[in-house]
Amino acid sequence: MRLMTFRCHHHHFINSCCEKRKKKNRHCHHLSSVNILLKAMSSSVGDKPTIVVIGAGVIGLSCALKIQQLVSGSHDILIVAKEWPSSIAGSPLKPSPDYASMWAGAHIRPIPASTPQLTREAAWIKETVKELSPLIVAEPFIGVTEVEGIDYMEEPDEVYKRQTKESFENETGLPGYTVLSGDQVPPEVKLAFSYQTYCFNSPLYCQNLLRKFLFHGGKTLAREIKREAEAFILADRVSLVVNASGVGFGDPKCFPTRGQTIISNMTTDKTITRLNKDGSAAYIIPRFFNGGTILGGTREPNNWSTEVCPTTRDAIWERNIEMQPYICDKPIAREDLRAIAHVVGRRPTREGGMRVETETVTLRDGKSGTVVHAYGAGSRGYEMSWGVAKEVTGLVKNTLYGFSSKL
Ligand SMILES: Cc1cc2nc3c(=O)[nH]c(=O)nc-3n(C[C@H](O)[C@H](O)[C@H](O)COP(=O)(O)OP(=O)(O)OC[C@H]3O[C@@H](n4cnc5c(N)ncnc54)[C@H](O)[C@@H]3O)c2cc1C
Repeated sequence: MRLMTFRCHHHHFINSCCEKRKKKNRHCHHLSSVNILLKAMSSSVGDKPTIVVIGAGVIGLSCALKIQQLVSGSHDILIVAKEWPSSIAGSPLKPSPDYASMWAGAHIRPIPASTPQLTREAAWIKETVKELSPLIVAEPFIGVTEVEGIDYMEEPDEVYKRQTKESFENETGLPGYTVLSGDQVPPEVKLAFSYQTYCFNSPLYCQNLLRKFLFHGGKTLAREIKREAEAFILADRVSLVVNASGVGFGDPKCFPTRGQTIISNMTTDKTITRLNKDGSAAYIIPRFFNGGTILGGTREPNNWSTEVCPTTRDAIWERNIEMQPYICDKPIAREDLRAIAHVVGRRPTREGGMRVETETVTLRDGKSGTVVHAYGAGSRGYEMSWGVAKEVTGLVKNTLYGFSSKL
């Protein structure tokens, strides 16, 4: 566009001037200035090495933003993804069930760190909590809201029974742990507690992360790729690839965990989770910023169905309406409650938990490239997002600069 606005004294525009001179096979004294201009332009758009991030879910977007901070302009960051943040529940445009970030509730609900996998996840969640508290002050529109969280358990296991205010707050970074009793709790519930936590309006939050990434010079490409190695051809000099594709590329440890939920017009400023004796669960998660309230839901490993199951839908509806009086100051009359949309999403789950590590992959002509994996978040991608992004950025830093240090 700039080229067209450059006038020369022989002709109107430099590019048309040069075309004419070329035809006459005579030297144009403007050619050199055109070359300088083109060189200047290309140095601003393609001269830098590129870091490619595969995936525009909450994990890819969080990693891309953290890496952008790390390299501060020395590299281009390119996100390549099949699907992009766009969904508004109830609108006719629907992301696929596999784009989990659009379908998540989503809240932070800590689980005691009683296994190595849960311990690793708890550390990532604590990092997310640390990141969110200043973020919502600096960017109140980002799509995250601080709320009261409530857990109800009909048959709590030992790890929950052992939990104290101190252990909960140390492990999660979330304040306000309080054991509930009396008329705050339904009769069948044996353990109930509340704490301060966060709810995400998932599609809005992802849109805002993407907007921020673009504002800071990030680049994007809508494309499906077949393998991590394919990402290395997307720019002239690709330094490394981050694989935040949700399910990875043919990893046999990955499988989907189906989740069916309802987005309703219920209004509440609390989030609640109830774990029942029969293994079923009910949860209510407000999506602030006019996003309705999620009524959940199921967690069905290896169920590939993408259809709404009517029996499940009715059970979710009934179980959650029962909880309304405990979390809504002004419960909506049953006949005025309605579903805005029915949701089926597939959580990208991985046996043993997320894969966050560096791998060297073979490219053509005997060359190799570095891939930093960040996939398989399962049912906890939002809560773990900033912790994972921080760890991934540490691995990127090691690859680029060859040493490890705290970010
Ligand atoms: C019903 C439900 C409720 C949930 N509730 C919560 C909650 O309360 N709290 C919480 O923390 N989490 C929750 N989750 C889980 C959360 O949604 C996921 O853990 C998270 O979204 C995973 O993010 P991701 O970025 O790894 O993957 P995704 O969001 O699936 O994104 C993957 C990205 O990679 C791209 N991609 C994949 N393959 C390719 C390819 N071959 N080529 C190009 N691009 C590709 C996709 O297009 C997409 O952009 C819930 C999920 C569901 C379904």
